[in-house]
Amino acid sequence: MRATDLDPTGEHHGGLPTYPWRYRPSPDLMTRRQLRAVGLRPGGQEPAAQVVCRGRFGYLYRRSLALPVRPMTPARWQAHQRMMLARRTCPLCRAVGESCIPTSLGCCLECADGLALAELEQLLALARAAVPA
Ligand SMILES: [Zn+2]
Repeated sequence: MRATDLDPTGEHHGGLPTYPWRYRPSPDLMTRRQLRAVGLRPGGQEPAAQVVCRGRFGYLYRRSLALPVRPMTPARWQAHQRMMLARRTCPLCRAVGESCIPTSLGCCLECADGLALAELEQLLALARAAVPA
């Protein structure tokens, strides 16, 4: 352990109190992962401290300021499904594939096959103009 790894006042780390990995300065301070394990999220608060392990830093947040993880409601789940469906739908032939449309192509592999890149870009521009985003 380097001396600067234990820095409770944060004078060597821009004011952020710093502790060695696994050092629990207070039961109120938890990593993002530890909060998640008990159903909480930082909720916009600034990190209160950090732990360091071999030059890698992990932020610690106050459990007392943390907010509950938002539950996945049916409406949020439906919105997510719609978004995933849109990502699997080819804008040219409207085929819905098993996986997401490759962003490098912008359409399904069947449409991209045999088309020159310039033709492809023209067709995609037309398809985008036809469908209001
Ligand atoms: Zn297609």
